[in-house]
Order: sequence, then C-alpha cells, then structure tokens
Amino acid sequence: MARTSARPTIALPSVDLLLREQACVTLIGRFGRAPVVEAVRDALAARRAALRGSAAERTPTVHDLIQDAAGRLAEQAAPSLRRVFNLTGTVLHTNLGRALLPREAIDAMALVAADASNLEYDLETGRRGDRDAHLERALCRLTGAEAATVVNNNAAAVLLVLNTLAARKEVPTSRGELIEIGGEFRLPDIMARAGCRLREVGTTNRTHLADFAAAIGPRTGLVMKVHTSNYVIQGFTASAPEGELARLCRERNVPFVVDLGSGTLVDLRAFGLPYEPTARETIAHGADLVTFSGDKLLGGPQAGIIVGRGDLVALIKRNPLKRALRVDKMRVAALAAVLALAADPDRLRERLPTLRALTRPQGEIRRTAERVSAALAPALRGMAAVGVVECESEIGSGAAPSQHVASVAVAVTPLAAKARGGALKRIAAAFRALPVPVIGRVQQDAYLLDCRCLEDAAVESFIAQLGSLDPAGTRSR
Ligand SMILES: *Cc1c(COP(=O)(O)O)cnc(C)c1O
Repeated sequence: MARTSARPTIALPSVDLLLREQACVTLIGRFGRAPVVEAVRDALAARRAALRGSAAERTPTVHDLIQDAAGRLAEQAAPSLRRVFNLTGTVLHTNLGRALLPREAIDAMALVAADASNLEYDLETGRRGDRDAHLERALCRLTGAEAATVVNNNAAAVLLVLNTLAARKEVPTSRGELIEIGGEFRLPDIMARAGCRLREVGTTNRTHLADFAAAIGPRTGLVMKVHTSNYVIQGFTASAPEGELARLCRERNVPFVVDLGSGTLVDLRAFGLPYEPTARETIAHGADLVTFSGDKLLGGPQAGIIVGRGDLVALIKRNPLKRALRVDKMRVAALAAVLALAADPDRLRERLPTLRALTRPQGEIRRTAERVSAALAPALRGMAAVGVVECESEIGSGAAPSQHVASVAVAVTPLAAKARGGALKRIAAAFRALPVPVIGRVQQDAYLLDCRCLEDAAVESFIAQLGSLDPAGTRSR
C-alpha cells in the first residue's frame, strides 16, 4: 500500500469491533446487516481520509464512527419521492403530481395492489378478459361515445391514435394549434414519431373550413384538432367550428380526432368555474375520437383516455403499441372509482379533491390564510413581514389558461428592500427545507403561500411544523 499519510497511521477500531457495539446492533435491527456493514466501512474510510488530509483532524471515537454510519443509513433510507404542501396556487401542478385522488380511488388501488384481481380475466367464462372492460362502460355512459380505451397518459393516447390511423399519411392540423405542452410534448414531434406527416393548415391566427377542405385528399389519414390548452390566440382570429369540421370529415370519409387535453366530464360552469369543453360535447359535435388526460380536470390517476367510434377504437386496441402503452391494474382501479364518482355530479364537488380545491369559497381560504399568517409571524423571527393578501389561483395543466380563480394567500415580504431577490430565494428555500416541504411562489416582492389547496384537515400539521422554519438559513449544512 502506498504511504501517503502525513503522520503515522492512526489505529481506528475495526469493522467487527464496531458491529459488536450495542448501538450498531440496534442499527442492524432497523436497517439489516449488509447495509450497516457497508455504512460502517464507508464511515471508517471517510474518517481515515480526513485524518490523512489534515493533521488538525481529531481522531474519531467509537461513538463518532457509529454516528457517522447512522447518518449515512438514515440518508439512504429517506425516500426521494415525498409528500409536499402545494401552495403554489396552481391546483393541477404537473411537477407536483397533478390531481390528488379521492379516498374511493386510493382504497380501490390498495385492494388490487395487495391481492389478485380479475384485471384481464372474465369471471363468467373463465377466459382471458380485457382490462378496458372495467372502464369502458362508464366512459361511454359519461361521454356518449360508442367505445373507449385507456393508455398511460394523454401523450400516449395521441401517439397511439395517430400511429393507428395515420401512419405514412398526412394529418391536416391548424397552424394555430401546433402546441407544445411543458417540455417534451410537442405536437409536430409526436406526429413524426407516430409516422405521420403533419400538414399545416391555415395561419397562426386564422384557419377556415375551406383551408381544411383544400388540404384533405387521398393521402389524408385523419384530421386533428387540438384544444389550445395552455395559451389563447386573441384579436383577429378564426377557426373552423368543430361541428362543421366534423361534417366535412364525414363527407370526405376521414376520421376527425380531437385532443382535448384537460378533458372534463362535467360542465365546470355549473360549479362557477371557467368554461372548458367536455368530452360529451365534443363527441356530440361529431368528433370520431376524443383524447384527454386522467389526472387533469378529471381528477383521477395519470392516464390517457380515448373515446369514440367503435370501429376506430377496435383498430387502436389491435395496434401492438397499445400493449406498450397500457395502464397498470392500480390505475384501472383508481380510474374506475373516479368514473363512478363522476356519475353523480351533485356530490362530485365534495368527493373529488380537484373539484373541491377549485371551488373552495374564498372566505374559507381566507380563514385558513389568517390562521397560517398568525402562526407564521413568530416563526419568521422578524426577518420578514407577514400578511394576508388576495391573489389568483390557476387551474393548471393547461385548463382555461387565460382565466383565474380568486383566492387568498399569506404573503411573506423581506424587510430590507435591498437584495430582495436573494432574500426571497432564502425564504423559499427555508419553506422547502421543512419536514413536509412547502412550495409557494414568488410574485413581485413577496413569497406567496396560496392557501386554496391547504385543506382544513391539514392546517394543524402545517402550522405545527412552522416551528422548525429556519428563515435565515443558519441551520443549513
Ligand atoms: C396535457 C395535454 C397533453 C398531454 O397529456 P398528458 O396526460 O400530460 O400526457 C396533450 N394534449 C393537450 C392538449 C394537453 O393539454
């Protein structure tokens, strides 16, 4: 072995000796022998390297070494995927997991997770069944469609529809609808991957029925309409009405497909929310297929739902890609439970967390904000001012992008006007460092905690952890 040490080798306790210590025996009981042996070895190696590196380094005791090992074990055991408080004001936040599932869906998932189920097994005939069978009837009833199938997410639904009906063919689509949705979902790219040729129709702001009429020909696989879910084109605009476009497609014998994105099953206006087209309306307008997400306004698990004409859905189910894009049993269970709730719109508001959050009365949000504000003031130790302010929440995930819902937030404002940007960053970091991380948003000069998604049942635990807030960042490593 090469001698690199600046001072004589220091004898540290052996791995075996450390493992016989009672503290290590306790760690083995908790984490298992192999991880503890590894952690002890790593702790010894790190201390040895530190001793070699600096003559000032103190020789660790047995206690130090076991503490080091315990720290390593705790770090490894900590899950990476954690619960957080979503106080961003965006109810369906893609980066924070979108829709929260209702109790009914969680129970249904647990049931099939723990036990065998008839996922693809026909209990009447004893033969192989179809996993869509658990969802299809409800989806048809809720949307008025003939048939339905479900895949991994809406991006997969669009890919599968395009690949099934329009591979090596043209897909006329309005130039105003060539969307990109957060990062990787860009319609032209999906079309290319599906093997289709995008045929751009019209202009960015105006597309007429006649533009589609001129674009449809023998090479057309389907006509695609995309709900411009995360932007609005305003001013001198025109688009071909859905019903007329559907009629044109029927005359020319090409399927008319609508990607609704955040498809809702219920009319949101009945709940005082901005209008979003429903899957039922789109089918009624004559769309041959409609695709939408399971975890946006539907309020269910991640899924891509395809509803529409029976013959087209049958073709889609026969595409080998369907197998690669299918949903697992837990999502079938959760989605079935959410669809069962959607059948009863009168009670949907109280049962579906997404709808509950979106329709929460501003007065109730204000009461929550006031409780949080009162508890937060001492926790900030005079480093920032706290107040209750009105703000606007967003639905998120590309629903009603231009419209907001009135809400109330706790505003944390750094006291010094100088270097406010840095202070806001430190405040945001302090909230993220809480035991259950809190995610707010910076707006102008304040860090806002929009209390819309902080339900009454969670306020107490939210407030309880504010005691460990470290606004100055002094306790950070
Ligand atoms: C969100 C969205 C998608 C992608 O859906 P995922 O379920 O996130 O895969 C596709 N199209 C539109 C219009 C959307 O809004």
